[in-house]
Amino acid sequence: MDLVIRNGRSDTGQPIEVGIEAGVITAVSSTTLPAAAQEIDAQGGMISPAFIESHFHLENALLWDGLINQSGTLEEAIEIYARVKHDLTVEDIVARAGVVVKTAVANGTLWLRSHVDIDHIAKLSILRGVAAAREAYRDLIDIQLIAFPQLGLARNPEAVEMMWQAMENGCDLVGGMPHGEKTMDDAARHIDIAFEIAQKYDVDIDMHIDETDDPYWHSLELLADKTIETGWQGRVTAGHCCAMSAWDDGLASRIIDKVKAANIHIITNAPINSMLEGRHSGYPKPRGIARVKELLEAGVNVVCGQDDLQNMFYPFGKMDPLEVALITAHLAHLGAPHEIEAAFNMPRYHAARMWGLENYGVAVGAAANLVILDAQTAVQALRQQPANRTVIRNGRVLSETKVETIWH
Ligand SMILES: [Zn+2]
Repeated sequence: MDLVIRNGRSDTGQPIEVGIEAGVITAVSSTTLPAAAQEIDAQGGMISPAFIESHFHLENALLWDGLINQSGTLEEAIEIYARVKHDLTVEDIVARAGVVVKTAVANGTLWLRSHVDIDHIAKLSILRGVAAAREAYRDLIDIQLIAFPQLGLARNPEAVEMMWQAMENGCDLVGGMPHGEKTMDDAARHIDIAFEIAQKYDVDIDMHIDETDDPYWHSLELLADKTIETGWQGRVTAGHCCAMSAWDDGLASRIIDKVKAANIHIITNAPINSMLEGRHSGYPKPRGIARVKELLEAGVNVVCGQDDLQNMFYPFGKMDPLEVALITAHLAHLGAPHEIEAAFNMPRYHAARMWGLENYGVAVGAAANLVILDAQTAVQALRQQPANRTVIRNGRVLSETKVETIWH
């Protein structure tokens, strides 16, 4: 074997050793494995499959100085970003993405899905920057790009042609933002256009859906209907889905049933949504996030995502899926052990299902994409978000983080 990890723990707390050969896990054992060329002592920590960041925006991460969102609303964030997006250069995007990627990888993230703005202002210039970043960091992380028409399709017909071009120039998935249109009828047109493109290229769809606390918007229902009509079940993801926090229970229950039937994956972006939504509301203030608990109880695949990192949309973030899972657990009232387990699995097994990753996990035959955590249970992982982590990609040790407290 090339590498053996000794003195580790499984997800369920069992002592394990993991053997790796040619980038693949060849042994998961409760007994001592033979000596290998390289050995790591997990020091009793959990050997977890690596994390997956499923909803992010690389091009505007860390755009913060002088671009402060005074109202704290999504609308102002989009306005600020529209003013500066034309000036973003390839070099600048690659440099900022490098900081993001290295932070994410050191925290244990080996896959990242990024929405790329495609519109009449940026045209394909942002895509060129993000595609260059994907290429620059391909030895560290797998990046998927989504063509994202943030300024609309029905109200911005110029963007439709740009979306087709984006698919010819490096985008892997078709995105969307139907609630950014003027009416639900236009939202339906927006969704139709996205599906037309996705069907032509035979790719998955991942849209920003109902990122608002205005209950008028229920484009998630249109998305579910269209998914079933086109046979795209399992290939469609809906991010944000904040408006469901403002729907009445009858509407929510009807649409959650449809989401389940359409096998749509839901990404909740609890940190940013709780920051941006509810700004115009009096008390009691809405939480502004998807109905995570009800979705989980209905058997829907729920994933969590960072979305933004210190920019006009969100001032915080540290590219750590454990922080995002912890914030999600708070805002979605996930406090029982099985619910904490679900939150911990959102950036792991749930995301792997959404991505369609094969050979994911800690099992013989799986690719050796692992993070060793200084924690033994899901509760410890979320509560402590331990800094000490070792990250292994395809059997190669990429990084080791070691933080030490010195007492005097
Ligand atoms: Zn987003």
